[in-house]
Amino acid sequence: MAPADLTGEVTDLLQQLIRNRCVNDGTPASGHEVRSVDLLESYLRFPGAELKRYEPVPGRASLVLRIPGSDPRAPTLHFMGHTDVVPVTPSGWRHDPFAGELIDGEVWGRGAVDMLDITSSMAVAVRRLMESDFRPKGTLVYSAVADEEAMGTFGAQWLVENAWNDVRCEYLVTEFGGARLPLRGTIKLPIMTSEKGSHWVRLRMRGTPGHGSLPYQSDNALVKAAELATRIARYRAGTARAHQSRDVRHRAQGCPRRRCWSLLLRDAHDVLAQRRAGRGQDKRHPRQRRALRRCPYGCG
Ligand SMILES: [Zn+2]
Repeated sequence: MAPADLTGEVTDLLQQLIRNRCVNDGTPASGHEVRSVDLLESYLRFPGAELKRYEPVPGRASLVLRIPGSDPRAPTLHFMGHTDVVPVTPSGWRHDPFAGELIDGEVWGRGAVDMLDITSSMAVAVRRLMESDFRPKGTLVYSAVADEEAMGTFGAQWLVENAWNDVRCEYLVTEFGGARLPLRGTIKLPIMTSEKGSHWVRLRMRGTPGHGSLPYQSDNALVKAAELATRIARYRAGTARAHQSRDVRHRAQGCPRRRCWSLLLRDAHDVLAQRRAGRGQDKRHPRQRRALRRCPYGCG
């Protein structure tokens, strides 16, 4: 199939997913992902594909498709998309967030970039593979899961806990990957390898009760809580640059070397420096000092 036809098919599926309004406001009764599971199930129904749907609570449906591999020892690859979207404030939108309109070559709507675009692209790719009589060595899994925007309780988490054999895999491709990043006249498609998570804590502030007429002797728990909230809001996490990100930047800058030794040595230096810092030492070998030189192409 020609790329233009594929683009049209992805666009059409994406528009339908947006129009399904699977808005997840964090409550169990929201989401209604069953609408998009119905759509994707009819789109992906094809001989040779094992399709299963799961609905742990009414409306919160997920779909899993498996194309069994010919070699049971070969690794399984899993494409996972989610079908829910976060709520909208319509007054902040230039176009109807749930109309899925195609305007000047762009699809507008809630979820168009998180992540119904990828959920639909993956579905189209998998269907094309099935139409071409694709017989992979390792099993290929495609899933469209519910409840990603609220911790995955009724989606990915539920599948892992209740249908592990249907979703387990060696490699998983999901949000976020392939956002277009223009760099030096070309388009790069970055892959994100990790994402921040949630860390829930319950904090109790204690104070000393007092009378409003004697405010200076008291110890107001609310004031302490306000100070704490302000400090948390002010906190800025440090940046840790992984080897891969440097390597990618190095290539993106156009450095002609296959491997940039400036980068590799800098990475090695960082690791050693961190270990030394942990032991309270700070001796640097001359080679590590040299490693601090910047890559001449500006990638390090
Ligand atoms: Zn998402």
